[in-house]
Amino acid sequence: MANTTLEINPIVQAFLSGTKEMFLNGKWVPAIKGKVYESINPTTNEILAKIYEGDEEDLDVAVKAARRAFEGSWKNTAPRERARLLNKLADLLEENLEVITQLDALDYGGTLAVAGGFAENAVHHVRYYAGWATKLYGNTLELTSGGNIHAFTKREPLGVCGQITSWNFPALVACWKIAAPIAAGNTVVIKPSQQTSLSTLYIGKLIEEAGFPPGVVNIVTGAGGKLGEAITSHPDIDKIGFTGSTSVGRRIMEKASKSLKKITLELGGKSPNIIFADADLNKAIPGAIKAILMNTGQVCAAGSRLYIERSVYDTVKEKLVEIAESFVLGDPLDPNAQMGPLISKNQITTVEKYVELAKKDGATILTGGKRPDSPDLQQGNFYLPTIIEGLDEKCQSVYEEIFGPVLCIMPFDSIEEVVERANATEYGLASGVWTTNIETTHKMVDSLNAGSVWVNEYYLTDDNIPLTGFKQSGIGSELGLAGIEAYTKVKSVAINHG
Ligand code: NAD
Repeated sequence: MANTTLEINPIVQAFLSGTKEMFLNGKWVPAIKGKVYESINPTTNEILAKIYEGDEEDLDVAVKAARRAFEGSWKNTAPRERARLLNKLADLLEENLEVITQLDALDYGGTLAVAGGFAENAVHHVRYYAGWATKLYGNTLELTSGGNIHAFTKREPLGVCGQITSWNFPALVACWKIAAPIAAGNTVVIKPSQQTSLSTLYIGKLIEEAGFPPGVVNIVTGAGGKLGEAITSHPDIDKIGFTGSTSVGRRIMEKASKSLKKITLELGGKSPNIIFADADLNKAIPGAIKAILMNTGQVCAAGSRLYIERSVYDTVKEKLVEIAESFVLGDPLDPNAQMGPLISKNQITTVEKYVELAKKDGATILTGGKRPDSPDLQQGNFYLPTIIEGLDEKCQSVYEEIFGPVLCIMPFDSIEEVVERANATEYGLASGVWTTNIETTHKMVDSLNAGSVWVNEYYLTDDNIPLTGFKQSGIGSELGLAGIEAYTKVKSVAINHG
């Protein structure tokens, strides 16, 4: 177990002091009612920071500012000016990588490697959409009826976007929710998860420094049930961009339906990862470990159901257990730590519940299945890497999202069987396939009912590749061209030159 804690950057230390204010209309302000909540460090369960808790009144200030900024000049700002500001923000994010990484490591428990990797992705992501700001276009249309008619489409921004984010990799998700809408000419009111608001607030400081006009990006902080619901039902918000659980996604869709707001929902998953006997096991086995243990299993697309072709099942199982047992758990600020804590005590309870359910269903716990014994890990929300066998798709721990380091492994005998079993879930976010056979590759690509199919790699994500949740994993896409088009509306124009 790792236990040497890295020194905290003095900028981070300073940022954690005082009560963090919200960023409304280009100013840092306390909540109107003065209420405050605490952010808890999951490694120690001590208070990390205090943050103002906003409600409907604060939201109203934010939405009015966002509307004024949109109608005032932002929607007509030259695309290259939007690109310039986003590129400036990306440069500032890059200069502040260590600060953002440490804030996220402290706030949600991601290791330096993982939280740092996500922070770097945030820089690339903002630059990527800065590029798109100048490249959106419509089409010219030939009429089926002919005539002297000039018809074309143009893309216009939607207006004010209410963005709600999850607590896992908060800095990156905040940038997902800011860059694309801003590049397309919208304004934003963003609410980070109340469990991890700090890096989003710090990014607010960089937005201010980059020189975005007041009201273009507003940050409100507070609880999902109250402030989140106020966002989804606010009459002057045009679109909701949400990353979070499927259950809250359903609630958001219901609330947003009152005013028929546009919605993009990036939700949960229970993704299958499939190892065929002909796969390069030297890649597939570490790939399967990364798929479940990265970010302590707290990734929407985690490969939490591992199907292994029977002839290599025992070999793969043995090696997986060996790697899982060698995993170094520790303080996320320790560079040697490979896995940090779960986000909260509640999340430990959830993981424990699913492991108990698995046992009741007759599972064998091959490794883990409990909290670590090490005395220096008792304060934090640590849970051992856990591998379970003996279950099938009828078991709750196999078909529901656990959001922890728990892998269910299952043997299979044929491609037809594994396709049916992999698709036997209400989710459809991601999937992994490990094979050296080109026919198997194409058959699996065509048959898996998931928005992302990764072959011979896991988490093969890129800003240019859309992320789409099929079935109950979401609505709409994030990233890629689809990710910015989701923040535009298509206007059709027909001019009679008669
Ligand atoms: P969550 O659904 O509990 O919360 C997400 C956000 O919604 C938070 O900001 C929360 O305050 C807010 N919220 C809660 N109740 C609300 C309500 N009634 N109305 C409006 N907003 C409300 O999710 P979480 O625990 O923060 O994150 C984990 C979940 O996010 C997992 O299910 C994971 O799979 C999913 N996720 C999906 C993606 C993706 O791209 N598909 C990425 C990351 C996480």
